[in-house]
Amino acid sequence: MLHPGTLQPVGPDDLAPLFPMELIMQEVSTEREVPIPEPVREIYRQWRPSPLFRARRLEKALQTPAKIYYKYEGVSPAGSHKPNTAVPQAFYNKQAGVKKLVTETGAGQWGSSLSFAGALYGLEVKVFMVRVSYDQKPYRRALMETYGASCTASPSNETQAGRNILAQRADHPGSLGIAISEAVEIAAQRDDTKYALGSVLNHVLLHQTVVGQEAMAQLEMAGDYPDVIVGCTGGGSNFAGIAFPFLGAQLRGGKKLRIVAVEPAACPSLTRGQYAYDFGDTAHLTPLTKMHTLGSTFTPPGFHAGGLRYHGMAPLVSHIKQLGLIEAVAYHQTTCFEAGVLFARAERILPAPAANHAVKGAIEEALKCKAEGKSRTILFNLCGHGHFDMQAYIDYFGGKLQDLNYDEAELAMALAGLPSVKEAA
Ligand SMILES: *Cc1c(COP(=O)(O)O)cnc(C)c1O
Repeated sequence: MLHPGTLQPVGPDDLAPLFPMELIMQEVSTEREVPIPEPVREIYRQWRPSPLFRARRLEKALQTPAKIYYKYEGVSPAGSHKPNTAVPQAFYNKQAGVKKLVTETGAGQWGSSLSFAGALYGLEVKVFMVRVSYDQKPYRRALMETYGASCTASPSNETQAGRNILAQRADHPGSLGIAISEAVEIAAQRDDTKYALGSVLNHVLLHQTVVGQEAMAQLEMAGDYPDVIVGCTGGGSNFAGIAFPFLGAQLRGGKKLRIVAVEPAACPSLTRGQYAYDFGDTAHLTPLTKMHTLGSTFTPPGFHAGGLRYHGMAPLVSHIKQLGLIEAVAYHQTTCFEAGVLFARAERILPAPAANHAVKGAIEEALKCKAEGKSRTILFNLCGHGHFDMQAYIDYFGGKLQDLNYDEAELAMALAGLPSVKEAA
């Protein structure tokens, strides 16, 4: 990471205004394994291990020789994989004497997860929710408030970053990049207040690897091992969570697999972004990280998988993409909803709009097996349920869901504005 002002490498102390030291040490850790604290395990036990299902009915519906397995993270209290990191983040903040956490949320999954985790530890939680989602998803907001958190539409008048954006465009739909700026601005102002991020960072990806580790043990019980792993990517955390333990095994001489990241065509950082140093937020308050990015000023169109509307990508996921260890594909939202509905009718679980991207990717892999007459084992992460996203399904069934394209000129402008960083050879 580089300092936003000096562009010099940042050390743990530079991050101390935003995060407790335990999480910073995990962020820069080179340990292969970091134990999960017992009090966190105790809370995990409410829904972990999450189930691993074989999608036999989906296999039948597709008439594919492939075996399809999915890890179902929708069983957590907040309905997604996000509590896997919200709980340890709240735990380490509480341990460090922090009183209040500030964060951003896109679709509302992260906001509700941190609200849930904050309530467990008596931490006050404030959430900046991207304006389009705030308007589209009043029930997610109500869930956060039920857990005792407060939720503000972003861009807001409560921060300088928000006021600057609103001065340019009063009806700005917001973006994760803007909401991050607002949360970071508030957290940096107060000693008893820290910031929490639900994706992208190394420590978040680390916490999510519980998903892949469990899947590995569960597949062993089933006497199977994947040939292909599929996950959707917003900031990259649920994808890394399911894929990294298997990739680690591969890098240590284990079985080689294909790993496919599925992203929205309207916000395609891995398939259309540049691999470059960029800011994590729009107001340029965060450190710079090297990642696949569409440019920090890029505002993606307001499609339904709000959790995937982020301009950047986790540096670790970007790095392995650059090394050729994973593949990436992008799909538009209507074809993903079509896949999600097929999945729901076969498997009876209704996926979150973001998860529909992983379902679509897994179905494509299964259809490839069918075309080739080959059986392969496919594992994908069903990262959340869609019970709070029914308006998106209503729009889909009403034929109102559009495949939105991002503005090519805006992307070119955002990429042209990437900070210039001289890299050591
Ligand atoms: C937040 C979220 C995502 C996107 O974030 P990642 O860090 O890429 O996992 C995807 N799916 C669901 C259900 C989410 O809540």
